[in-house]
Amino acid sequence: MRHEIEIDYTKQAADHLRNESKRLGASSEIKSGHAHMLVAAAFGYSTRKAMQDDPKGPYFHDQWLGNEAGDIEKIKEVIGRMNGAPVQLDQAPLIASIIQDGLMPACIECGTHSSQSSPLGDVKPGNDADWVCPSCAKDKFQFGRCRFCDSDVLHRLDDLDDQGLCKEHKGELDYSEEDLDDMESYIENVQKDG
Ligand SMILES: [Zn+2]
Ligand SMILES: [Zn+2]
Repeated sequence: MRHEIEIDYTKQAADHLRNESKRLGASSEIKSGHAHMLVAAAFGYSTRKAMQDDPKGPYFHDQWLGNEAGDIEKIKEVIGRMNGAPVQLDQAPLIASIIQDGLMPACIECGTHSSQSSPLGDVKPGNDADWVCPSCAKDKFQFGRCRFCDSDVLHRLDDLDDQGLCKEHKGELDYSEEDLDDMESYIENVQKDG
């Protein structure tokens, strides 16, 4: 594991939702219990306990949880059952998107939680990474893309060589011995035919 402290991203999302209460136009801060209920609802559960007790439920330390949390109908159902929570039914889609942001690891540059963040390097979904939010990713003096990686893969500029290649693809622009042999025989053949 890359991270020494295991973060419970569902707790982080509940805290994020409470911090964003104002953005929702809530008259008061969402209570912790309600925030946890809404996060569980985003995963399709009626209560946090039900989510915790489900052996097939989400792994709370997974950095990629945001992809699984978008059950707007369940959020509506839970809002309907909540007493005195400062949120409205029609806010369910906005609540879902705030929860998806809150489930994301903090941007390593600025600490923002955004569902649009990118992992650094060519990381397979499910694996841990350092994450960068969209606005920090635009910093051309810090981050860039490798010419041979998929175009959505983000790298630190420090990790790219002067040809703009990542460690994995380093040297791919240099010709190998084999390529040079091939080229030589190609030229010989062309000359023969000519
Ligand atoms: Zn950032
Ligand atoms: Zn590459």
